[in-house]
Amino acid sequence: MPPRSRRQELARYARRAVELGAQGAKIVGPRAVRCAQWVRLKCQYGCDGYGGCHTCPPYSPTPERTRQVLDEYAHLLLVHVGRWRSASRIATRLEREIFLEGHHKAFAWGAGPCVLCRSCDPSGPCRHPDRARPSMEACGIDVFATARRAGFPIAVVRLRREQANYFALVGIE
Ligand code: SF4
Repeated sequence: MPPRSRRQELARYARRAVELGAQGAKIVGPRAVRCAQWVRLKCQYGCDGYGGCHTCPPYSPTPERTRQVLDEYAHLLLVHVGRWRSASRIATRLEREIFLEGHHKAFAWGAGPCVLCRSCDPSGPCRHPDRARPSMEACGIDVFATARRAGFPIAVVRLRREQANYFALVGIE
């Protein structure tokens, strides 16, 4: 368990996520974040965003690489939001704030495709590399298993009127 001052700092980041509009946030360890090969299949077969931007497969990190990256962190912040566009916005803001507090490894994973530009040309350079971040699912993270393990609600959405739950992740240290 981290020392008290570190626990307080981590708790403050969770509160900050809520201040920025999240419904909730929780500090988790790397092994609480699940990666799976099938996640990539869902991108490749069934998502019209496949290959459409720098932050999506096949350009985003594979599940194997993501597993290795996650294991380089001791603490990550799992963020629960109600709108997927909010997930990446909140996560990149947190990444910047946490980085500026001295956590040089701070890195954000968002939700869904990148929407910072009207269109994306993955054969050219990214126009906003400071804010464009891959989604959790684009990197092979099993968002369903990860959210459930952390005690957050998540279920398959079958009807438009059903409430969806979205998640972002910020690696801290
Ligand atoms: S910021 Fe623009 S260029 Fe970069 S990944 Fe997003 S949409 Fe593509």
